Amino acid sequence: MLDKFREECGIFGVLGHQEAARIAYLGLYALQHRGQESAGIVSTDGHDLYRHTGMGYVAEIFTQSSLENLKGVTAIGHTRYSTAGESSIKNAQPILVSCSQGDLALCHNGNLVNALQVRRELEQAGSIFQSSSDSEVILHLIARSQKASIEEAITEALLQLNGAYSLIFLTQEKMIAVRDPRGFRPLSFGWLNDSPVLASETCAFDLIDAEFEREVGPGEMLTLSKGKVKSQKIFSSVSESFCIFEHVYFSRPDSQIFGKSVYESRHLLGRYLAQEHPVDGDVVLPVPDSGVAAAIGFSRESGIQFEFGLIRNHYVGRTFIEPKHAIRHFGVKIKLNPVVELIQGKRVVLVDDSIVRGTTSRKIVKMVRDAGAAEVHMRISCPPTISPCFYGVDTPTKKELIGSSHSVAEICKYIDADSLGYLSHEGMLRACGVPGGQGQGHFCSACYTGDYPVKFPEAALV
Ligand code: SF4
Repeated sequence: MLDKFREECGIFGVLGHQEAARIAYLGLYALQHRGQESAGIVSTDGHDLYRHTGMGYVAEIFTQSSLENLKGVTAIGHTRYSTAGESSIKNAQPILVSCSQGDLALCHNGNLVNALQVRRELEQAGSIFQSSSDSEVILHLIARSQKASIEEAITEALLQLNGAYSLIFLTQEKMIAVRDPRGFRPLSFGWLNDSPVLASETCAFDLIDAEFEREVGPGEMLTLSKGKVKSQKIFSSVSESFCIFEHVYFSRPDSQIFGKSVYESRHLLGRYLAQEHPVDGDVVLPVPDSGVAAAIGFSRESGIQFEFGLIRNHYVGRTFIEPKHAIRHFGVKIKLNPVVELIQGKRVVLVDDSIVRGTTSRKIVKMVRDAGAAEVHMRISCPPTISPCFYGVDTPTKKELIGSSHSVAEICKYIDADSLGYLSHEGMLRACGVPGGQGQGHFCSACYTGDYPVKFPEAALV
C-alpha cells in the first residue's frame, strides 16, 4: 500500500540489563515501521531518570554519546507517528514528569477516545499541559491520585479513560506494562537472559536475541522489578477487540501478533482472496512491500506465477522536489517502477492490502497498463475500508475513503481495472484468527464495518 494509513507507535522496555539504553535503541530500530516522526528513550539508574528524544528516524536521533548519557540498567523507548496531537518534539515520547508518585516516564501506543474531554476538565481545574498528546492526560490523572502505590494510581487514572492503550511506565525501581481491557494494540513480554523485556512486536525480540514468553493480556497490569514479575487483572472482563489491521497491514510479517504469525495471516488472506475472486491471469504481482505475502498466497492458491514486477525504491524520503516538466505518474514512479519484461502482453493480477482514496491505485493500474499489460485485475486482501479508526491508527476522514461512498463496481471503474475483488469480512477473520483460540471473533474490524467497539464523540465521524 502506498497511499498509506499511517502507522501508530512502537513501544519497548528492558529491565536489569547492563546495556539497557543500547538494547532499547535496537528494540526501537526493529519497531521503526510503526512510527517515523520522533523517537525517544528514558533510562534509570535507580536514582535519576534520563531522557533523550528527537525528531526523525531512530538511527538519526541517537548517537554513541546520547546513548552513554542514558545511564542505568533499565530503559523504555518509543517511536512515534502522531495519531493524536501535532507532530512536534513536544509530543515526542517517553514523557517524563516528577509528581507526587516520584519521577515517572510513560510510553503509549494507541488513542484515548475521551482524552479531550478529560483534558478540558483538568484544565478547568488548573492543570497545565505541556503537549497536545492524548497520553499526557494519563500522567495528569496519576499525579492527582491520592492512592498510596503507583500501581493503584495508574489503575485509578485508567478507569477514567476509554479507548486503546498499550503502555509502559518507568519509575526508579519498576517497569509497569498495561494493556487496555479490549487489547486493541499488541504488547509482548519476553526475556533477554534474566532481564524482562516488553515490545509492541516480537520482531524486536528477535533482533536482541530475547525469548518471547507471552503477550501482556487485555486488561492486565504487569509489574516488573528486580527479580519479580507480578501480574494483575485491573479491569473487569469485556470482549476483546484486537486490531485486525495489525495483521492485514501494520505489523511486520516476521512478528507474532495476537497469538499468530503475521506472515501466515497475510498468506492466508491471499489464498482466501484467490478462492473468493478467481481470475484468469498470467502473472501475480504484489504492490510492495506490504502486499507481498498476500500475493504469494494468491499465487500458490491460484497456480498463477508470482513475480516481483513492481520494484520499490526504499530510499524515498518524506518529500521530494518535482521537476518543472511533468513526468508521467511522477508521484508513484518515485516509489515504484514496473519491470516491463514481466508485464508486457500479460494478464496481470495486482495484489494489494487496501485501497484508501483510490488515487494511488489508479496511478498504479495506469503504470502497469503503460508497461504493456493486456489486462489488469486488482485484488485486495481485505474488505473495503469504509470508516476511520479512532483507536490509534491515522486514517483519512470517512468522506476521503473511497470505500465509504463508492460500490466495488464504481471503484473498479475509477481505478480503471478490468476487474476488482476484495476479500470478504468473513474471509479476513478466518485468515487472521486462531481456530478455536485467541483471535477469531475477537477482533476490532470497525474500519471495515463501521461497528465501533468503544464509543467516541459523534462529531469526529465526518
Ligand atoms: S478501526 Fe480498524 S485500524 Fe482501528 S483498531 Fe479497529 S481494525 Fe484497527
